[in-house]
Amino acid sequence: MTPANFDFHCHSAVSDGLLPPQEVARRAAGNGVDLWALTDHDDLGGLLIAGEAAAEAGMGFVPGVEISIEWRGVPVHVVGLGFDREDRGLSGGLDELRSGRIERARRMGDALAAIGIPGAYEGALCFVTNPSLVTRAHFARYLVSVGIARDMPGVFQHYLTPGKPGYVDHRWATLQEAIGWISGAGGVAVVAHPGRYRMSGGEMRGLLDEFRDLGGQGLEVTSGSHSPDQVMHFARLARHYGFHASRGSDFHGPQESYVDLGRLPQLPEDLKPVWRLLS
Ligand code: AMP
Ligand code: MN
Ligand code: MN
Ligand code: MN
Repeated sequence: MTPANFDFHCHSAVSDGLLPPQEVARRAAGNGVDLWALTDHDDLGGLLIAGEAAAEAGMGFVPGVEISIEWRGVPVHVVGLGFDREDRGLSGGLDELRSGRIERARRMGDALAAIGIPGAYEGALCFVTNPSLVTRAHFARYLVSVGIARDMPGVFQHYLTPGKPGYVDHRWATLQEAIGWISGAGGVAVVAHPGRYRMSGGEMRGLLDEFRDLGGQGLEVTSGSHSPDQVMHFARLARHYGFHASRGSDFHGPQESYVDLGRLPQLPEDLKPVWRLLS
């Protein structure tokens, strides 16, 4: 069956989304999504419930994850799709990746305290739904709730991005590790929202060369984070590299996300959609 509306990038409360996995599934189906992947950050804990809820709603389901990596000093996200959820290499790698997050969060709290914002670590934890998965989004929600900034983009811009006082470095996975875990579990690796990375054209080509050489097959061309110009740009890169194209809203929650599940443009027609690689 050819899906009319696939969405292969979104989050539930298992990472930093606002809704439990079954509600994300129902919302996706209600919006007309007919093939769906849940892609929580670094955690597979929502996939069982998500798959059951998708089946109940009559929607196709693909297991997914969004893995946090660092490439030449730049944080990059790699989406894995269609893997075996029981694979020990993948789940073990993700366990290790998550274990550093609490320590990083403490250091973020210390860094914010040093500029006169005390209690941010404890505050962020009040917004956390999965104790092993605290992200900058949880800090951002706390900082908005106490009036430090007006909205999420404002907090990121002033406090939580590289060079800003609440940003601390962290050792994420490498590109090779992430692709190895996904491929080892029989899945397909996709570079998530390439338009979000602060890199030059040359660096982006370096990333995509390396990604392809390591066995990566997909590029997120249509994304909730991309402007129409960026869609055209990354469509050209997908053609150039022979990548399959993915499409994902990156939905986090009804009040927060610019783009709702399934509510984004179709892929340019000549591209090879990534679902073709999934059996
Ligand atoms: P982390 O994995 O802890 O570095 O947190 C990254 C998460 O923060 C992303 O997955 C988004 O949910 C959120 N995020 C990052 N940048 C922004 C931004 N500029 N505006 C809103 N949310 C953001
Ligand atoms: Mn997120
Ligand atoms: Mn991401
Ligand atoms: Mn995401």
